[in-house]
Amino acid sequence: MKTILLVEDEPSIRTAVRDALRARGYTVDDTVDGAEGLRRAQAHRYDLIVLDVMLPGMDGFEVCQRLRQGGDRTPVLMLTARGGEDDRVKGLSLGADDYMVKPFSVRELLARVDARLRRSGWSGGDEPVEELRHPAVTLNLSRMECAPQGGEPVQLTAKEVAILRYLAQHKDRVVTQPEFLVNVWGYPTASGVQTRTVENTIGKLRKKIEPDRGAPQIVLTVHGAGWKLGEEVQCGG
Ligand code: CA
Repeated sequence: MKTILLVEDEPSIRTAVRDALRARGYTVDDTVDGAEGLRRAQAHRYDLIVLDVMLPGMDGFEVCQRLRQGGDRTPVLMLTARGGEDDRVKGLSLGADDYMVKPFSVRELLARVDARLRRSGWSGGDEPVEELRHPAVTLNLSRMECAPQGGEPVQLTAKEVAILRYLAQHKDRVVTQPEFLVNVWGYPTASGVQTRTVENTIGKLRKKIEPDRGAPQIVLTVHGAGWKLGEEVQCGG
């Protein structure tokens, strides 16, 4: 679960942004005050800070500057009412990662937040992965579809999608057979389970998605351990 600190004194914007972020599945901590925002940012490790510029007491520029001077690299998305080039440049030069000019659309803000959290990859694995891209094939998980370059889309089963999603959520490590049995097949425990179900399902999946069936590049076998996604596979929302 990713946690976002929202520092915004304008009630309507604070409420709208907070509710939208929460609806998106983020945990949101909010405050109206710059100095309090800085204190919380220093006391907790947030995944991202949404920071208004015009705040009572300490403004957003100063909050950002102090954080960076203290060595804190938490991504900061600044909200500026003025929208002038100077504010934008100032915010970015003080260490903000991105900015939005008021009035902004909450949808746009959510898109920026999602993008920033994917990029920072701090906690990773919590974001719903919707697409896996390989140079030869795109796997659209929400549509349950495999689209090879220049070929006809192939339909995937729910289990195949669940396997891909699980691999994507644990992209940097090997996923074992017992782990699949428990988390994808729903066994209460995989101890003592003798089955080739996982191997067979992955075999069928490979026939649909692998550009070269003899040398899998998307779902790799790690002998004696399990499976992992190939290095060329990129995960996106
Ligand atoms: Ca304000």
